[in-house]
Amino acid sequence: MLTFLALTCTIAYGAVQGGTLALAPWLLAALMLGYVAGDLFTGFIHYFADNFGSETTPVLGPAFVYRFRQHHVEPRHICTLNFRELNGSHMLVSIPFLLPFALLPSAEGGWPLVLALFGWSTLASGVFTAQVHRWAHDLEQPALVRFLQRTRLILSPEHHARHHRRPYDVHFCITNGWLNGLLDRLRVWDRLTDLFVWMGVPQADDSVLGSARRRQRERAAFHDEAIAAE
Ligand SMILES: [Zn+2]
Ligand SMILES: [Zn+2]
Repeated sequence: MLTFLALTCTIAYGAVQGGTLALAPWLLAALMLGYVAGDLFTGFIHYFADNFGSETTPVLGPAFVYRFRQHHVEPRHICTLNFRELNGSHMLVSIPFLLPFALLPSAEGGWPLVLALFGWSTLASGVFTAQVHRWAHDLEQPALVRFLQRTRLILSPEHHARHHRRPYDVHFCITNGWLNGLLDRLRVWDRLTDLFVWMGVPQADDSVLGSARRRQRERAAFHDEAIAAE
């Protein structure tokens, strides 16, 4: 946690030293773009853990697959975790990725600073996705958090509730969810599932889209049998 904080401070120092008024629109754009990119990336991890592999898959199984699937069964368990339990491992994993951005000569301004802020924003929104997700499940939130949720600057409980309806196959992005509507309308997750299945990636027995498809197949088989019996 301290390393993550130190790297964040390094990048912030660079922003203070190298930031100019002329660069401000670029810096803001880098922060916003990173915020969306981080949400999309963690949304993909969430989608993948919900749909592929199993809880015993090496490395990713216990850390991601179990956590995400168990969350559908016990949505409020996340609210019992403290700050370190929620964010500690994410901070640790992010450090090797954050380090190159912190080493950029961002105090000189220009593109190194824009790139450093983009990298930090992407990783920070990925790191704190569990915290934001927890707030979406908390029965009470601090006033500032509720304000951020109401203005949709972070994931709101109402928006996230759509993911928690069976068969859990929409709204996978859980930091701000800005892309959820578009991704669902374009059936991006469904198309990705087709691609991964075609590539031979094993769908879990209790996978979300997998079970949705199994039900679809069972319905079709039942329909065929009914026609054959007539
Ligand atoms: Zn899920
Ligand atoms: Zn949730």
